[in-house]
Amino acid sequence: MRHLVEHLFMQGVIQEVEPVTNRMRRIRIVGDQLRTVPWIPGQHVGINVTAPQRWLRHPRDARRTYSVRHLGQTRGSLDVCILDHGDGPGAAWSRAARPGRQVHLSHPEGRLTLRDAPYHLFVGDETAAVPFAAMLEALPPQVPVYGVLETDSPAGEVPLPNYHQLPWIHRGAAPTGSAQLLNALSALDPPQEPGTAYLAGEARGCQAIRDHLVRERGWSRRHIVVNDPSGAWVDNCWLAWWTNIRWTARCGGCRDVAAKRFERVEDLSRPAAAWPSGGRGSGRSDCRDMHR
Ligand SMILES: Cc1cc2nc3c(=O)[nH]c(=O)nc-3n(C[C@H](O)[C@H](O)[C@H](O)COP(=O)(O)OP(=O)(O)OC[C@H]3O[C@@H](n4cnc5c(N)ncnc54)[C@H](O)[C@@H]3O)c2cc1C
Repeated sequence: MRHLVEHLFMQGVIQEVEPVTNRMRRIRIVGDQLRTVPWIPGQHVGINVTAPQRWLRHPRDARRTYSVRHLGQTRGSLDVCILDHGDGPGAAWSRAARPGRQVHLSHPEGRLTLRDAPYHLFVGDETAAVPFAAMLEALPPQVPVYGVLETDSPAGEVPLPNYHQLPWIHRGAAPTGSAQLLNALSALDPPQEPGTAYLAGEARGCQAIRDHLVRERGWSRRHIVVNDPSGAWVDNCWLAWWTNIRWTARCGGCRDVAAKRFERVEDLSRPAAAWPSGGRGSGRSDCRDMHR
């Protein structure tokens, strides 16, 4: 099992753990493979957050997805910033993170990356601020940037690059993806012509924001990049892919994600119309909408 894990994932060791906000930790992982691995600001990695011995019995807990805050190729270091929320395996892993602990992680991937645009609009919660900070750092200071971010209180604000600050709103005890974020976006006054919007965070919140941009502001969907929640689902349970293929097949976007990783699975190479429609997941209409 150990050899298989080493073959499938990059290896690293935690070098530093430090607080970024009142509820978020920056975890720096170092490793030789990180000196050469390609990364585009905005992309994420999958981190194995439970021991391999638990994977077969609890496949959904095996892995969590985290945006890369910074990749330092000369040092061979990769930073992730993890919100300490609840008792899930990801939060538990971040709480237990200590220098010297071994980590297995996947190569960076994801389509939340900067596009050519007259201006850039960033909207999301504190976990979205992690990839956004990396993307903002990659944008020259003179490029126009708009947006709004949400967290629970001023102590939860994630530091952004000095020259590209975004306003924060505070939701207090309301759940993430609250209507306040949408209201704050409605009050923004970016140029009339569309730029590129980057949305990340809680799936329903992203969907509401995307609908606002399309319906109220007349943006085309191709100008809106959403951090893919179905990808998250697939990422979060990589061993469960095998047992849930019928379920992911119900959604075109999920199918694309799954197909990318399951090229050899016969079912996935069939035309879309031939995909089975049964199985779990009757509530996945949101997911289908996200990919339209
Ligand atoms: C592309 C991508 C990038 C991501 N980047 C980051 C990142 O940079 N930093 C980061 O902290 N997380 C990030 N996440 C979220 C991360 O993958 C995990 O979902 C998160 O850490 C929760 O995992 P868990 O195992 O602790 O909780 P789970 O067991 O997965 O969830 C436990 C419960 O907590 C809820 N929950 C989880 N997170 C939140 C939240 N933020 N606010 C409110 N409720 C929540 C879940 O809905 C669930 O009900 C990212 C997700 C994706 C898809």
